[in-house]
Amino acid sequence: MNIKEILPELKQDILLKDYTTFKIGGKAKYFYKAKTKEELIKAVKTAKKLRLPFFILGGGSNILVADKGYQGLVIKMLHTNHLILDTKISAEAAVPLSLLVKKSLDSNLTGLEWGIGIPGTVGGAIRGNAGAFGESIGNIIKQVEVFNSEKEKIENYSQKDGNFAYRESVFKKRLELIILSAELELKIGNKEEIQKKMKEYLDYRKDRQPLEFPSAGSIFKNPSDVSAGQLIDQCGLKGKRIGNVEISKKHANFIINLGDGKAEDVLKLINLMKKQVKDKFNIQLEEEIQYVGFK
Ligand SMILES: Cc1cc2nc3c(=O)[nH]c(=O)nc-3n(C[C@H](O)[C@H](O)[C@H](O)COP(=O)(O)OP(=O)(O)OC[C@H]3O[C@@H](n4cnc5c(N)ncnc54)[C@H](O)[C@@H]3O)c2cc1C
Repeated sequence: MNIKEILPELKQDILLKDYTTFKIGGKAKYFYKAKTKEELIKAVKTAKKLRLPFFILGGGSNILVADKGYQGLVIKMLHTNHLILDTKISAEAAVPLSLLVKKSLDSNLTGLEWGIGIPGTVGGAIRGNAGAFGESIGNIIKQVEVFNSEKEKIENYSQKDGNFAYRESVFKKRLELIILSAELELKIGNKEEIQKKMKEYLDYRKDRQPLEFPSAGSIFKNPSDVSAGQLIDQCGLKGKRIGNVEISKKHANFIINLGDGKAEDVLKLINLMKKQVKDKFNIQLEEEIQYVGFK
């Protein structure tokens, strides 16, 4: 069976760097834009039937794609229906988190202020339990709808089932679970206060993060009680450059792409950061970003 017969809109040899915030990465052998949940499920079932590896792509803001690209099917999620009813937000997985942040402000809802400035989608945020300023998306989840690609059926997970922890969730551990949509519960708040908090958070980001360069955000998770950025900074690595990628002088846990950067060079920097932090502090840094196409 030919994959193009089942997914006629499928594209080939699509440069993935155009779909990541890092602007790094080679071509996807196959690339499919799923505009609805049904199209997503169809694409996943097709990949499985053809024994083709597949990768679910949200906003591409937490990944490092290999220079050689991805030898399988990349499924770019594009289903973005959402609805706010009282304090409840229902959103499909491809809704940008930034849109929900804006809409929550418009509806005087508090609980998502921390999300301002975080790129990416609702699905990507839930999978990695994205968060900032001591809060995270897991705290406001009511329910997550997933497609279990192993059982080939739709399932619902409550907040408790989600096992949310610092940058962790059941959806990150169990790769067969593909997030389709979610329900979030916020609280009625005061518009001026919500706006003030958002402004503070955004100013904080602009002050401390190299937002003027392409990056994937924080490379490493913070080890308990310390900031990965401070550890890397204390190793004297700020500004260290390999090829066209650099450990940011502004924030040591960010690697920035100075233009046409290579994943291979990012990996070299990552290994250097890990080695020096291990040697100096005996702490093993663990990546927050996900690797794509390196195997
Ligand atoms: C400038 C900058 C600042 C950032 N600041 C923060 C921050 O403060 N806090 C924070 O937590 N993160 C931060 N990030 C990282 C990133 O934005 C978040 O982790 C974001 O939630 C990732 O979502 P995404 O849609 O881009 O995921 P992607 O990068 O597209 O994917 C990440 C992983 O999730 C999987 N995935 C995506 N969608 C689904 C789905 N529907 N179902 C199952 N798996 C899925 C992918 O397969 C991949 O493994 C920052 C990034 C940047 C560039």
